[in-house]
Amino acid sequence: MKAVAQFRIALAALIAAHLLIPAPGAAQTAPAAGPRTTAEATDYAATSTFAEVISFIRELQRLSPFLRAETLCTSTEGREVPLLVIGKPVPQDPLALRYDKRIVVYFQANIHAGEVEGKEATLMLARDVLLDPRLPYLDRIVLLIAPIFNADGNDKMDPRNRPGQVGPEKGSGVRHNGQNLDLNRDAMKLESPELRGLVRNVLVRWDPLLLVDCHTTNGSYHEEPVSYSGPLSPNGDPALVAYVRDKMLPAVDATLEKKHGTLSIPYGDPVDFRDMEKGWQNFSHQPRYLTNYIGLRNRLAILDENYSYADFRTRVLGNYNLLRSILDYCAANAPELARLVAEADARTVERGLAPKETDTFGLDIEARALPDKVTVRGYETEVIPREGSPFPQLKRTDRKRTYVMPYFADFFPKRSVRLPCAYLIPVFDPAIPVKLRQHGLAVERLTEAVTLEAEAFRLKEIKGAERLFQGHRTNAVTGEYAVETRQFPKGTLLVRTAQPLGRLASYLLEAESDDGLLFWNFFDSYIVRQWGRGAETYPVFKLFSPRDLAAAGVD
Ligand SMILES: [Zn+2]
Repeated sequence: MKAVAQFRIALAALIAAHLLIPAPGAAQTAPAAGPRTTAEATDYAATSTFAEVISFIRELQRLSPFLRAETLCTSTEGREVPLLVIGKPVPQDPLALRYDKRIVVYFQANIHAGEVEGKEATLMLARDVLLDPRLPYLDRIVLLIAPIFNADGNDKMDPRNRPGQVGPEKGSGVRHNGQNLDLNRDAMKLESPELRGLVRNVLVRWDPLLLVDCHTTNGSYHEEPVSYSGPLSPNGDPALVAYVRDKMLPAVDATLEKKHGTLSIPYGDPVDFRDMEKGWQNFSHQPRYLTNYIGLRNRLAILDENYSYADFRTRVLGNYNLLRSILDYCAANAPELARLVAEADARTVERGLAPKETDTFGLDIEARALPDKVTVRGYETEVIPREGSPFPQLKRTDRKRTYVMPYFADFFPKRSVRLPCAYLIPVFDPAIPVKLRQHGLAVERLTEAVTLEAEAFRLKEIKGAERLFQGHRTNAVTGEYAVETRQFPKGTLLVRTAQPLGRLASYLLEAESDDGLLFWNFFDSYIVRQWGRGAETYPVFKLFSPRDLAAAGVD
C-alpha cells in the first residue's frame, strides 16, 4: 500500500509539474460539421476504441468524397485494420498516380497501442484536411493514414498499462499485437499480419515517399513534448539519411515552434542519467525498427516520440502540430522529395550492376557524436545511492536546466564487407523466397545449373541467444569468407542487388548482418548438420562479377 501511495503522490507531483508546460498553440477546434474524436469529446480523459475509430471514419466518408478506406490487413484477432486514402481527387489505385504531380505521404499511429496520441491526432488531421478549406495540402499530397495500426492491442485498455505515462486516465492499450509481438521489432522478419500488410498494401502498393511513425517516449525528462528521429542505418542511402537529419527535421522543428508553438528536440536518452553533460544518445540503427527499415528501402521516414510525462492533451496537440508541420514541409518541397527518392533508387541500381571494391556493407555499427551539439531543456537529477547496489536511484527534481550536449546519432560501421552484384541461395526451402517476396524484393531462380566462382561464408561458431526475443533465439555467428568454385543447381535462388531494394536485400542476406535472415533463425536447419560437429557453410553465396545467368522470376 505504502509503495502505491508514494507512487500516487509522485505521479500527482509530476502531473502538477507538467501543467506548467506551455500548451501548444493553435489548439484545434473541430470544423463545425465534423465528428469529434473520443479524446476531444471526453476532454482528453479517454482514447478511442477500435469501434469508435471505425465509426469516426464512416462519418468522415459520409461528409467528404475525398476519402476512401482500404484494408491494411486483417489482424490476428480478426479486426480489419483501416487505411485511409485521402486525395483530391482520391486516386482509384496507384496506377492513377503514375503521371500525377502529387506525392504520397503516409502517417501511421498506434503501432504500440499504449502510445495512443497519434491515433487521436491522425484522426483529427484526417477530419481537418478533408473538411477545413483553409488547409491546402491536397493540391500537392495524397495522404495515407493508418490511425490504429495495432488494433488488437488497442482495445486491451487499462489505466495500469504504461504506469509512468500521464493519461489518458481511462487507460490505453498494450504494446504488443495479437501474437504478443512487438510490431516495431518485426520489420525484417515480417512475422505479423500488420507488418506484412504494411509492406504489401502500403509500401509496395502506394509507395509513399515518407512514413511517419507515432510513439510515446519511455524515459528521459525534458520540457519538449515532441521528439523525433530520421532513418539511422548507415547501410541506407547516405544522402537520404543526411537529408532527413540535417535539412528536413530542422525545418520541421522550426515550423513546429514558430507556427504552432510546440517545442521539439531530436529523440534521445542521456548517455549517463547521472551526468547529463556526457551526451544524448539516439536509439539504434537496426532495421527491425520501422523508420530504419524505411530508410533501407530508399524512402524517407520520421520517428515521432511524444513525451510521456506531458499530459494527454498536450501530447495529442503536439503530435497533431508535428504532423501539420511535416505536411507544410512536404507541400512546399514536393518536387525535391520526389527527386531525392528517385535518385536514391537509381544510385542503388547503378551500384548493384557492377559493384566496385569500395561498395560495401557495414558491420559492427556504433554511434558517434554528430558535429553539432543538441540542446535539451531538461531537469536536474538527484542521485541517491542505494546500499548494496551499484545502481543509484535517480530522481527528477523541479530545477530546470538547459543542457547542450554531444548528440550520439551518427551510426557508422567499424568494419565492412564487399557488396556483391547478386546473392545465390542453393536451398529449396519455400520459406526463403516467400520471405524475400514479402518484402517486395525481385527474386529469380536459375533455369539451368551453372558453375561459378562465388564467395562463401564458412561458419565457425553459432551462438543462439540465451534469452528468447520476439519468439526467437537469435544467432550470433563467426566465420571466414572464402572464394569457391562450385556448381549451383537449377532452381537456385538469385537475388540481384541491382534493384531499388538492393540495400534491403543485403541487410537480409549478408551472413554477418545484425538483423538479417540468418540472425532471425530462417537458415537454422541448414547451418548445423545432424551428428556433425561444428557448423556448415552459410547457404547464401556472393557473386562479385556480373555474369549472364539463365533465370526466371519468382512470383
Ligand atoms: Zn513506441
